[in-house]
Amino acid sequence: MINSVRMKSDKPIIIVLGPQGSGKGTQGKVLAKKLDIPYLETGQLLRDEIASGSEEGKYISSVIDDGTLLPDEYISKFMTGKIAQSVESSGGIIVDGFPRSNGQADAFEGVVNPTHAILVDIPDEESIRRLSARRRCIKDNKIYNLITNPPKNNESCDICGGQLEQRVDDTPEAIKHRLDQYHRDTEPLIQRYESMGVLHKIDGMPSIEEVEKSVWEIFS
Ligand code: AMP
Repeated sequence: MINSVRMKSDKPIIIVLGPQGSGKGTQGKVLAKKLDIPYLETGQLLRDEIASGSEEGKYISSVIDDGTLLPDEYISKFMTGKIAQSVESSGGIIVDGFPRSNGQADAFEGVVNPTHAILVDIPDEESIRRLSARRRCIKDNKIYNLITNPPKNNESCDICGGQLEQRVDDTPEAIKHRLDQYHRDTEPLIQRYESMGVLHKIDGMPSIEEVEKSVWEIFS
């Protein structure tokens, strides 16, 4: 069953990688629309589970609120079924936030091989600066950044008027913890995807529009 998913993928299978706040999510969503394939955001799926009030959500919240990663085995089980389903129904996918370690990458490749791993890179100081200014609409989850992508009104969503909030794991301590984990567990994936010949490095420092252009060049 799982192997048949691998055989059927006729559209790109894309992993977006990068430190927190690099804009990989923003770029992933735009790219998914352009390529007409589903976009799966791991962190958002986890936050949706928390919001559902389930027992599983309570467990997830107890681990991730301070920026700690969930165990590989748990997150791999959580994500691989969703990835397989999307690839089976749409032929392609963009996944943001999974894999975040070699163990998770093994699980991903057990379902389907990535055709592209797009690394959107920024230095740590920029991650900290951007995440401290990140805000999210509590209604439609639209992401703003008070520095790089501010809402018209500081307190509400441009689209739906919903209240904007800061994520509980966007505190300076939790951000530092997440960056340490990124360097230790996720950065080795860069080498892995380079060896597989699927890595594309993009500088995440220019404007959102400029980064979007660089990402699109990979496919045009
Ligand atoms: P994000 O929205 O991508 O920053 O994810 C929010 C939090 O969810 C992370 O800080 C982790 O605690 C957890 N999480 C997201 N993706 C993963 C993953 N691939 N492996 C383990 N934990 C994850």
